[in-house]
Amino acid sequence: MESSSGIPAANNRMSSTVDIQYIKGIGPKRAEVLAKAGLATIEDLFEYFPRRYIDRRQIVPLGQLQTDGEEVTVIGKVEAAGIRYARKRFFYIVIRDETGLLEAIWFNAIEQFKRVFSVGDWVALSGKVSYYRGYQMTHPDFDKLGGAELDHTLHTGKILPLYPGSDMLRKAGINSYTFRRIFFNLLQNHLNIIKENLPEDIVSSRGFLSRRDSFRFVHDPDSGEHLDRGLARLKYEEFFFQQLLFALQRNSSKLKDPGIAFLKPSPRLEGYYKSLPFTMTAAQKKAVKEIRADMKSPHPMNRLLQGDVGSGKTLVATMAMLLAVDNGYQAALMVPTEILAEQHYFNISRALGALDITVRLLRGSTSSRERKDISVMMESEEPMIVIGTHALIQEKISFRKLGLVVVDEQHRFGVMQRASLTEKGINADVLIMTATPIPRTLALSVYGGLDVSVLDEMPPGRMPIQTVWRFDDKASDIYEFIRERVLAGEQAYIVFPLVEESEKMDLKAATESFEKLKKTEFRDIPVTLLHGRLSSEEKETVMGDFNSGRVKILVSTTVIEVGIDVKAATIMLIEHAERFGLSQLHQLRGRVGRGDKKSFCILKTPFNISETAQLRMKIMTQTTDGFKIAEEDLKLRGWGDFFGKRQSGMPAFKLANPIEDRELLNLARRDAFDLIKNDPQLRKEENEGVRFFFIERYQSKFLLSKVS
Ligand code: ADP
Ligand code: MG
Repeated sequence: MESSSGIPAANNRMSSTVDIQYIKGIGPKRAEVLAKAGLATIEDLFEYFPRRYIDRRQIVPLGQLQTDGEEVTVIGKVEAAGIRYARKRFFYIVIRDETGLLEAIWFNAIEQFKRVFSVGDWVALSGKVSYYRGYQMTHPDFDKLGGAELDHTLHTGKILPLYPGSDMLRKAGINSYTFRRIFFNLLQNHLNIIKENLPEDIVSSRGFLSRRDSFRFVHDPDSGEHLDRGLARLKYEEFFFQQLLFALQRNSSKLKDPGIAFLKPSPRLEGYYKSLPFTMTAAQKKAVKEIRADMKSPHPMNRLLQGDVGSGKTLVATMAMLLAVDNGYQAALMVPTEILAEQHYFNISRALGALDITVRLLRGSTSSRERKDISVMMESEEPMIVIGTHALIQEKISFRKLGLVVVDEQHRFGVMQRASLTEKGINADVLIMTATPIPRTLALSVYGGLDVSVLDEMPPGRMPIQTVWRFDDKASDIYEFIRERVLAGEQAYIVFPLVEESEKMDLKAATESFEKLKKTEFRDIPVTLLHGRLSSEEKETVMGDFNSGRVKILVSTTVIEVGIDVKAATIMLIEHAERFGLSQLHQLRGRVGRGDKKSFCILKTPFNISETAQLRMKIMTQTTDGFKIAEEDLKLRGWGDFFGKRQSGMPAFKLANPIEDRELLNLARRDAFDLIKNDPQLRKEENEGVRFFFIERYQSKFLLSKVS
């Protein structure tokens, strides 16, 4: 049987047929709960990986605890457990080892913890130690230990895996100890269902353990070295199959989807190039070259253009659009907000003024007459550039000759991938711009199906921006500083946070502050307020006034985050900076430092802010490198939150972490792409294991992504 990907179907299934309830340590009741937790088969169980390990060398005797803020692991026997009241009700246990005592306390889920711990249990606790009439841990990570393994852990230096738990599992009496017992049996009796899924030459040339050994050592490590090697192999495997999927997708789109070959030279592009008042950066030149090569080829372009705020992405995109237009096609530039659409329209039509080209702006407030006029042009196949919000694609307006779509995602990620455009019947070349750059290797994993160009160089002559963090009690000093600068001819932004959930209150806070500042510190300075509730015309007037320098201070909610480019603006004051994410703060900061004067970014916060907010402020004061900031942001928020859980196409790894394991990721990518180059349909005998596994696990994703 041949499947539609061209990959021959597997002829034997790898799945085991053993019902997990018959595995020692499980039984029918637990099997049911495990199945509910997504662990229905032996494979599922094997791939339920430890969340952490305890190594005897890391265990600190209770007599040697320190309150130095370091996280430690301790082991002891529960001597007392119960509920007490201080200001609040809490649950406590006291544990003891040969050297001392420690109390652990929990303020929530009290009843549940009461059921978990009994006097006489042996437990491992991990957390930070504090001191209050004795050593304490609040809400530590915990695990129960049992029988022989306790002996092993304490005396023979065995490394103990700790498994992720959940309320449901805990209620059924399934904890790390249970899992360790289950694995004891699985490893003895069922390891043979694990089949090699990498080609032999990769396993040997990369020095990997076999798949079986990897599972063995990950669940029952006999040494740190074996554990590390087992983990490395399994992480590699996750990357490898993800990259294999990308490689296959790429291959099949190159084979099947017809695209446009923009072969004609572009006099407008040349004209624009010659008219530039500056020289392009080497990075811009390289990106344009890459884009031109893509557009020339008959395969649809699928490229991501990454670059920090101010790195000059618009210019690159404009050149691509000119190439499309000179080839007789229409180009669309889609941006996330109307303000940004207007800004782009303003800049681009000014830059292209001498080139005899139609540039139109389409937005919510566009009159129906103009709208009709634009849509008539679009349907007439007239080559042109249309700028609008992302709604452009959803609107009923039909491009007759759409050749290029540029999507500006600004501080979001390149989430609007080709698939969502293809869904709407668009088979144009696609260029996605994002100002939240992530390191190249990461990009390869996240946007694996896209080609990536990077503007890793800023136009010369940019003044550095000095970033400071100040508490609210310094407000009058800050306003005085702004006043002085503005009186000396510079301009300033003051930004207030505004989030959907508390929009009304936020707007009120911004408005009140604005009214107050207007009457006090800035009474003799032209100040205006910009917020999302204003109509397009009002916004335009405000922006125009600030652009021309008539207004000196722009007080605003976050609407200015994107795309505004005023060279005389040198100060960015961010109120309640603790409420912004790192990427947003960085975007806001990117609004200043565009002229030839030294610029400042002031992060103003209350005195008491959360630890992670403090970290964000510190990172902002330490670097202006957008790549670095995105990476820190990713570390702080974690993979899922950073990209947004619901965003499609984002990889979910069980073990691998694209940041920490980027070398493995690189390796896996190279190997997977090489493999598909040599064996595009995985027909070779040596790739049989790869094929079986791919079909079992990834085939459906591959088909899905083809369908959409
Ligand atoms: P981005 O969209 O990447 O944040 P923009 O495209 O808005 O950046 O460019 C920021 C500013 O830098 C614009 O005013 C643009 O005209 C200017 N610019 C772009 N490329 C160069 C260059 N090579 N040299 C000097 N200035 C440049
Ligand atoms: Mg831009």
